[in-house]
Amino acid sequence: MAPLEDSVQFLKGVGPRKAELLHNAGIDTVGDLIFWLPFRYEDRRRFPTVSAARIGEEGSFLGAITGVREVRPRGRRGRAILNATFSDESGHMALVWFNQAAYFKKVIAGAERWLVYGRVEASRRGGLQLVHPDIEAVGESEDPAALARILPVYHKPTDISQAAMRSFVARAVEANVTRARSGVPEPVRKRMGLCPLADALRFVHSPPPDADLSLLAAAQTDSHKALIFEELFVLQAGILLRKAQRSAERGLIMPAAPEGISEFLSLLPFEPTGAQRRVMAEVSKDMAGSQPMNRLVQGDVGSGKTVVAYAAILQAVRAGYQAALMAPTELLAEQHFATITPWARAQGIKTALLSGQLGAAEARSIRDALEAGDLDLVVGTHALVQESTRFRSLGLAVIDEQHRFGVLQRAALKGSAADTLLLSATPIPRTLSLVLFGDLDVSALDEMPKGRKPVVTRVIRSSARPRLLERMAAAMSEGRQCYIVYPLVEESEKLELADATSMAESLQSGAFKSFRVGLLHGRMKAEEKDAVMRRFKAGDLDVLVATTVIEVGIDVPNASIMVVEHPERFGLAQLHQLRGRVGRGADEGFCCLVAGPEQSPESLERLRIMETTSDGFDVAEADLRLRGPGEYIGTRQSGAPGLSAANLVRDVKTLEMAREEADVWLRDDPGLSQPESRMLRHALEKRWGDRLSLAEVG
Ligand code: ADP
Ligand code: MG
Repeated sequence: MAPLEDSVQFLKGVGPRKAELLHNAGIDTVGDLIFWLPFRYEDRRRFPTVSAARIGEEGSFLGAITGVREVRPRGRRGRAILNATFSDESGHMALVWFNQAAYFKKVIAGAERWLVYGRVEASRRGGLQLVHPDIEAVGESEDPAALARILPVYHKPTDISQAAMRSFVARAVEANVTRARSGVPEPVRKRMGLCPLADALRFVHSPPPDADLSLLAAAQTDSHKALIFEELFVLQAGILLRKAQRSAERGLIMPAAPEGISEFLSLLPFEPTGAQRRVMAEVSKDMAGSQPMNRLVQGDVGSGKTVVAYAAILQAVRAGYQAALMAPTELLAEQHFATITPWARAQGIKTALLSGQLGAAEARSIRDALEAGDLDLVVGTHALVQESTRFRSLGLAVIDEQHRFGVLQRAALKGSAADTLLLSATPIPRTLSLVLFGDLDVSALDEMPKGRKPVVTRVIRSSARPRLLERMAAAMSEGRQCYIVYPLVEESEKLELADATSMAESLQSGAFKSFRVGLLHGRMKAEEKDAVMRRFKAGDLDVLVATTVIEVGIDVPNASIMVVEHPERFGLAQLHQLRGRVGRGADEGFCCLVAGPEQSPESLERLRIMETTSDGFDVAEADLRLRGPGEYIGTRQSGAPGLSAANLVRDVKTLEMAREEADVWLRDDPGLSQPESRMLRHALEKRWGDRLSLAEVG
């Protein structure tokens, strides 16, 4: 095995336990450590005197420990606090350890001179202190100038200290950095003026004391630039190759059906929006072409994606093929079925709903009919349609909102050459869509049907809740319905559940005594959730308290108020999607974000964007700027590999350059067969695995 592929466990100091912790953080090999870049730096180049220490600033100080006290305050279950006096010629300050007092007491007894580093705070007794400082013994003969340096700070598992993390990375880099191979072909590297990979890695992990700290902090040194380009180039090359492989496949040709479409449009009680017309044309053209379609249609909730989906289905069926329409939940599938059936019936399209509630015999007969070609369209959940369903001639798979708020896992019906149309209600900023679905074609349904009013959104404090409850009661008295949504945070799932449950109970017995309160939470079985949603949709519940949000994807035009608890825990894009659930009927929608009591001004400011921004793409851009791409990429389920050097907000320009360069390179060497492409090929194999079939390319 190549040394970069060696397990971290074989590095000095990393035993099985630490290896396990690192593994949980996504670090398995020596190579992973080498590419684990610091996220900030500490400036330890100057050693001011204690008298020059400033409260709130971080600093390194050189001096001696001149006194030690162990304090045992009451109420800490006997745990001691260590308080040492640190002095130089100019004065003294305290070093404080709240944990492991005995251990540090022993450590500091071991040397005379110390270099200490930490954030300077005011101590309760009026002096200065460093809490949990980094400390380093300085030998009598050692020249302190040799200790001047800029130190990297790494993201790390909680139970591994920063010092240990630093030494693991340093060891990995020292021994193996020259083995790291760049995926950027030499001619590209030269043209872009990038420094060699090993130099760049050495520099970012241990910058020399004369490095420019502000460039380091902004990740804008030449070394950072080289690493960022490296990462984005390989990523874009992978995406472009995947796209090329897809388009090299032979797809089905399904010619446009203009008469059928006119007939369909005449069935609608409204005119399609300009955006709907444009996107329908884009989809139609893809389907008529000989390459398989892979298109993502993005559009806010209510932008009318169903019409676009049906038009595509019609084109497939008129061309003699079958179509499948898949939704994430049973209820959403039913909703689509109910919307589409009248159109399909009028146009002679034989449609069935593959529901989980069907008996075995009924499900069987639908599957048989699909296999025999007696059905044109099947609607169901992803699971139902993907599992063991065979088609006689599947031409089109439409996949609705399979992602859960942004994380898009692409589904494919195995072994079919069918066209794929993905629908998403979470608009993705362009930079992200290049990374997440750069191999897809993207259409934006960026225009709402006429007369649709934006949902009025207000951020309130929880102290204003009584007035909110009055407003809800008034709406419900007029026959409207309301949602109250709680975020579901995995680690505190129980807590949220308790919150929502007690909220539902106290509302039912208090403010909403005369209304019907329903509860929907993640612990319920799918059928139970379904039953509650059904009652809400049928109007048998006035207010729905929900800890789980995907089921809220259902269309209930009568719902006019959406209340979101702990809105700070949601991404803005999620909040936008949530509020799209109200105001779908004749009444204007109202969305109330009930901020928790301990909101920072920044957090409130972020929420207030929702008050003034009504376009989903604008919200998504703001969200990306404020929270970074984690929400979209977080789980790495998106089909694109994670990024460590690049930041998709900061590095937009580099991303575009990398895409351009990758495109040019692949145009010259589409098979990656030139010697200069060898390492790129290797990097792609490593990072993309079998998501790219490189063997076929080469
Ligand atoms: P999405 O799936 O994008 O959230 P839907 O397809 O469910 O949106 O459409 C939302 C509502 O808007 C539906 O009631 C639909 O009939 C209606 N609608 C769709 N297109 C138009 C349009 N061009 N003009 C008016 N209403 C429309
Ligand atoms: Mg929809």
